[in-house]
Amino acid sequence: MVSDLTISESSNTKRLNDPVEMEKVRNQFPILNQIVNKRPLIYFDNAATTQKPICVLESIESYYKKDNSNVHRGIHTLSQRATDGYEGARARTAEYIGAQTNEIVFTRGTTEAINLVANAWGLDNLGPGDEILLTEMEHHSNMVPWQLIAKRTGSKVVYVPVCNDQGEIDESFLRQALTSGRVKIFSFTYISNTLGVVNPVAQWCELARQNGVISFVDAAQACGHRPMNVQEIGCDFLAMSGHKMAAPTGIGALFGRADVLESMSPYQGGGEMISEVTFEESYWNVVPHKFEAGTPNIAGAIGLAAAMDYLDDIGRDQIAEHDATLAAYAYDQLKRLDDIRILGPATGRAGVVSFSLKGAPTQDLITLADQRGIALRGGHHCNQPLMRKLGLDATARASFYLYNTTEEIDRMMVELRDILDFLRS
Ligand code: PMP
Repeated sequence: MVSDLTISESSNTKRLNDPVEMEKVRNQFPILNQIVNKRPLIYFDNAATTQKPICVLESIESYYKKDNSNVHRGIHTLSQRATDGYEGARARTAEYIGAQTNEIVFTRGTTEAINLVANAWGLDNLGPGDEILLTEMEHHSNMVPWQLIAKRTGSKVVYVPVCNDQGEIDESFLRQALTSGRVKIFSFTYISNTLGVVNPVAQWCELARQNGVISFVDAAQACGHRPMNVQEIGCDFLAMSGHKMAAPTGIGALFGRADVLESMSPYQGGGEMISEVTFEESYWNVVPHKFEAGTPNIAGAIGLAAAMDYLDDIGRDQIAEHDATLAAYAYDQLKRLDDIRILGPATGRAGVVSFSLKGAPTQDLITLADQRGIALRGGHHCNQPLMRKLGLDATARASFYLYNTTEEIDRMMVELRDILDFLRS
């Protein structure tokens, strides 16, 4: 499998492999500079959520200190400022992924974006005999909403098999499914949060388009880690989570192609999403407001835009390169441990490495690592069906971001060896 991204040299100046620059970057993340369980913290749980730089924290504080008000309907100055901040964040989000501003719907995150489409698009477009195509490597949030909608519409969820630990999918199954005439939507992850696989999203969207199938890219693990353009990807929908890209929790976005969004019914009803309400019926606001019922997460959107500015200032191509370097380094180091099983491809992986070690129950491993100041994640990573298929209950996962270093991986390896000696003795 090949990635659709060619990582190019950035014209930006911040090189994450330069120790002086790295120190400056890390100083922007005060949370990293702390002692946890008597050791300097190593934060390797970035696939779950990333840390936030000072500029993002300040943008939120400044909004609440100076501009806090409700958006859209207010005539007064503060409301106009809040509206400008919120709508400015929408324009910034559109720019970040090469979309039009009216194609960005703010959501709580990827999960809500998928639920929105599953309901607002799915209920009107799916019926008995229709199929929803997913892959077996999907996060639960790209499975459960579709399972719910399949039940309600009489349609069926079909999975492209994952063939092995490396995360290779059954390409011929994918092709057959997309050409069967039964599949109406193909929803898949850009980067697997367990395998670290980077899927060829542009290729898959093209294949979907050729067969009249709507495509949905779950970009939760990709949006803060690499350059991304929805025109180049060619998707109909794409979802992102702010908290996985240096922004706050509770904010994310759905990109939907303008004509597809226009064709959809509302998701939730309430204020903001209407143009007129009578006792009998209501009329909808224009897209994207039609999909944003109620008071939105204004501060979150402003924080998201600040995070996008921050990431672009570093250079998303540099972040992707740094992730790849760390993941390759961690993979090489981990491989040297006896009786280790590492999931995902040997090369070309994103900044996620999950593994299990014989004689070292994952729960114990993670707890002992935490006692040494290392934050790893252990469990099924919201990929229960895939883990079950691979014959695993749980793996330990180290996931990296722009502020992590190979020195931290070295320290993790020293501690892991020590923990293994203890658990296996
Ligand atoms: N998809 C993937 C691939 C993920 O890794 C995650 C979060 N772990 C989600 C979807 C869900 O994102 P959120 O919880 O931010 O909605």
